[in-house]
Amino acid sequence: MPRLAAEKRSLERFLGLLLEREVCPYCAGSLLSSLDRRVSSWILGHAVLALEAEAGGERGKKASSGLRGSCSVCGGEVPSALPELVSDLLQGLSEYEFETFKGGAVLPPHVHEAHDEVRASLGIWTAESPKVTLSRMADDVVSTITGARIDPVRPDLVGLLDLWRGEVRITVNPVYLAGRYLKLARGISQARWLCPSCGGRGCEECGWTGYRYADSVEALIGEVAKRAFQAEDYHIHAAGREDVDARMLGTGRPFVLEVVRPRKRRVDLAELQEEINRSAEEKVAVVGLRYAEPSLIRTLKEGAPETRKVYRALVEVEGGVTDDELKRLEAELEGATIDQRTPTRVLRRRSDLLRRKRVYGVTTRRIDDRTFEMIVECDGGLYVKELVSGDEGRTRPSVASILGKKAFCRELDVMAVLTPRA
Ligand SMILES: [Zn+2]
Ligand SMILES: [Zn+2]
Repeated sequence: MPRLAAEKRSLERFLGLLLEREVCPYCAGSLLSSLDRRVSSWILGHAVLALEAEAGGERGKKASSGLRGSCSVCGGEVPSALPELVSDLLQGLSEYEFETFKGGAVLPPHVHEAHDEVRASLGIWTAESPKVTLSRMADDVVSTITGARIDPVRPDLVGLLDLWRGEVRITVNPVYLAGRYLKLARGISQARWLCPSCGGRGCEECGWTGYRYADSVEALIGEVAKRAFQAEDYHIHAAGREDVDARMLGTGRPFVLEVVRPRKRRVDLAELQEEINRSAEEKVAVVGLRYAEPSLIRTLKEGAPETRKVYRALVEVEGGVTDDELKRLEAELEGATIDQRTPTRVLRRRSDLLRRKRVYGVTTRRIDDRTFEMIVECDGGLYVKELVSGDEGRTRPSVASILGKKAFCRELDVMAVLTPRA
């Protein structure tokens, strides 16, 4: 059957139904949806019923009572539940700042069944799911009243009219901020690290903070952002991480901060960055804070292994080290391929693998007879403390193996994270 003919037949059958049964505007719109794609179905339903009501007769009576909320399809449940739910939705949304929105609806199964039955028994071709009709209505009402744009892909807020449970649910999508962080002091973990003794409840061991380390990059940045965005929580995502006792200097490490359930979404980021840097002074500094897409998180994580790093290590050599030995060390490590088994110190958390990483360049500077500073440029993922100590032969070659002496990394700083993409 050609499409237009099928639609005409569907309308006729619907009007036939209306001679015998009342239908509410939402169910009418849902059944007639594709008759006119230029208007939302719920408006179409209203319009068709209003025309029939005006025309009078037996059908006009049924249409009038449908307009007042009687419905043989949904049992009147949809028109009777909607006003309160829509008002709850608008009330709930008013607590949030948002520019984009998407509505949704959940209906009791018996309403879907009733629709299926009417469609099938009458042979109606123009129908859409009543869920779609009501989602669209939520979109129309919210965009008209608040001015929000409808974004089905990644809206700021999703509002669900749940007619089955008689409630409204609002999903608040996170705000993502990107930037680079510097860690200016040692003893700061990247993420919040719950105290292993108390699991975060607070105990003597952690000084009642609940955390293993008093400070984390995540909390030093996140707490300030949480206040500014009036959010509930936050998570840091970064391109790799430095050891707790290593500083992160130079140009900093790229990160994304996920701000969870924010009430505000438009914050002056220059001001926020200044405030973070003021409150985290001498511990953490942030540069280049900006709004970001969530896809950047994957880019950061996937890019991390292929990222080059520049480290500064303070190395102590048992029995001292000569200038000639330092020269030899630079020459042998430059361009060297390092075979590294997972360090003993992280074996409990990571599986034992053999990694092959490159060192691109090494420069050294003597501090005293047995101490020197070493600047190393190498592949991300190379454990530099073990590059120094050799980790009992698990990292080869190493500073220790080249010198033939015991060597130990006393301090470690990341000077640069050279990301190809972020
Ligand atoms: Zn209905
Ligand atoms: Zn504790």
